[in-house]
Amino acid sequence: MSVAELIDFDERPATGVIDLIGNTPLIELTRFDTGCCRLFAKLEGQNPGGSIKDRAALAMISAFERDGRLRPGGTLVEATAGNTGLGLALVAALKGYRLILVIPDKMSREKVLHLKAMGAEVVMTRSDVGKGHPAYYQDLAARITAETPGAVYVNQFENPANPLAHESGTAPEIWRQMNQRVDAVVCGIGSGGTMTGIGRFFARVSPTTEMVLADPRGSVLVDVVEGRAPGPVGSWLVEGIGEDFVPDNADLELVSRAYAISDAESFHAARELLRREGVLAGSSSGTMLAAALRYCREQKTPKRVVTLMPDGGNKYLSKMFNDTWMSDQGFVERRQLGDLRDLIV
Ligand code: PMP
Repeated sequence: MSVAELIDFDERPATGVIDLIGNTPLIELTRFDTGCCRLFAKLEGQNPGGSIKDRAALAMISAFERDGRLRPGGTLVEATAGNTGLGLALVAALKGYRLILVIPDKMSREKVLHLKAMGAEVVMTRSDVGKGHPAYYQDLAARITAETPGAVYVNQFENPANPLAHESGTAPEIWRQMNQRVDAVVCGIGSGGTMTGIGRFFARVSPTTEMVLADPRGSVLVDVVEGRAPGPVGSWLVEGIGEDFVPDNADLELVSRAYAISDAESFHAARELLRREGVLAGSSSGTMLAAALRYCREQKTPKRVVTLMPDGGNKYLSKMFNDTWMSDQGFVERRQLGDLRDLIV
């Protein structure tokens, strides 16, 4: 082979990290019992900010630019400490916008430090107050927006550019990568952007494709999908999905099947995913994998099922991937004292 034959001259460097958002890999998971189905996973942790929320952040900022609400050097405000904050911080830094994030004070130090390192201004507020209280993080973000000249409130729960990012990006990628044969897509709901956007795309190109909801036990969304009055809101440790209300951006009519998954099942699924397939994914990916496996095993005819994996697992190394944390939470039996591995974590 000549050197010229070894080189792919069509490949060009990306012009910046923003160009690396989207076009994430899709892999088949072959080391789990999936009954008569084939299960595929879309690895959204491979986005440059580390999660699927990079897509929504870019789409929401671009929409504000297009409609003239955000001008060069302008200010964005959002209420979040999660992946949306990281995605917004990435895009805002590269495009030269000021970003103010309002964060409840229960959020981990790592998350806050990460956001600050990316140039976001962090306003901490109380975690122990609810909607309607002036210190509630969403109400405070709305007030800061009103009091900051020219600032725009991103509001991922209502912003239509959020689901559109998935209808025009994530879903067509899945459709292409699966050779236009997809029987079901499994996802969770935080803002609802992912599920609604993907559901709308498939309703147009492949109406028989089912949207399957993976919801943490304690969230109200499963009850709403199944037409029950929502039970009392519980608490869960899985991060980024599950709600105590139905966000405007979550069109639950699109969902045909829903599973409530416990923290224990989610964490064990994520740990098995790493051991068996070598995929280091986050806790909501564990919830989605668990729901996808249940769905696959219930099918009577072969189906091609895709599950989202919204973020990577690095930020969970000291939690669900840590045996000591897992046993402190009661998810695994406490191992014998003196085990060397306990001493080095
Ligand atoms: N998983 C993780 C880890 C997330 O951070 C989020 C966003 N909160 C989601 C899933 C849900 O995504 P969406 O906001 O599009 O519903």
